[in-house]
Amino acid sequence: MQTIQLHDKHFAPYIDATTIEARIIALAQQIDLDYAQERPLFIGILNGSFLFAADLFRHLKIEAEISFIKLASYKGTSSTCNVITAIGLEEDLSNRHVVIIEDIIDTGKTLHSFMQELKNRSPKSIKIASFLTKPSALQYPIVADYIGFEIPNKFVVGYGLDYDGLGRNIPALYQLSE
Ligand code: 5GP
Ligand code: MG
Repeated sequence: MQTIQLHDKHFAPYIDATTIEARIIALAQQIDLDYAQERPLFIGILNGSFLFAADLFRHLKIEAEISFIKLASYKGTSSTCNVITAIGLEEDLSNRHVVIIEDIIDTGKTLHSFMQELKNRSPKSIKIASFLTKPSALQYPIVADYIGFEIPNKFVVGYGLDYDGLGRNIPALYQLSE
């Protein structure tokens, strides 16, 4: 694999497609064991998780459903803090086992905020599957239950993740060059 350029930046090969696939198959097997008979509802968070969600879901053997949402952040009226709301979440979550599918947990802010909204809909359980986590960047109390790879606090692209719109279609993961 060679260094690539997206817009003005260069990225070096980091995790190849074969390694990614093997890891996702292992995660799917773990989820199969944990959710046998439960018919979980997977909620993929667009845009970044679309490839991970598709590959993870494809490898599941249990009965399962999947839906996709977008998260939009807006300024709360009375405070300066951003509120994150889900667009497109039509399913009734009460009494459902929910598994959120995210591309990457960086500070954890996005998921922390979304979890509050999700809990209000009274699901039976909530777990998080994140393709990537950056443990050293975490600032919110978010713990992923299924993790593809823990990575250092460096910007990555590929396999659904973009740099200013580009790079999502690259089948492997690349890391910003110094
Ligand atoms: P958090 O709210 O956890 O700080 O941020 C999560 C979001 O930031 C991710 O869903 C993703 O959109 C973006 N993000 C964080 N780190 C990276 C990265 O290394 N590469 C890319 N492409 N996006 C990232
Ligand atoms: Mg994202």
